Amino acid sequence: MLKCYDCADKNKINEAVGVCIVCGKGLCMEHIKQVEFPMKGGYPMSHVTLKKDLPRMLCRECIDSIFGVDFCV
Ligand SMILES: [Zn+2]
Ligand SMILES: [Zn+2]
Repeated sequence: MLKCYDCADKNKINEAVGVCIVCGKGLCMEHIKQVEFPMKGGYPMSHVTLKKDLPRMLCRECIDSIFGVDFCV
């Protein structure tokens, strides 16, 4: 079973409930962040535009880097 990477970093063990779609690390309920934004020209499907916003699982670090730098909607 996958363990939460951020918890493991602090010498804690928690089961991961999901995986960050950007960096791929396992995350527990406490560390996972669910964001919904339009899928347009972004990772991982830059060639398609979906009709519907989809929830995406990300870790704190990736949200910071994506929303902070060039968040394209
Ligand atoms: Zn955790
Ligand atoms: Zn991440």
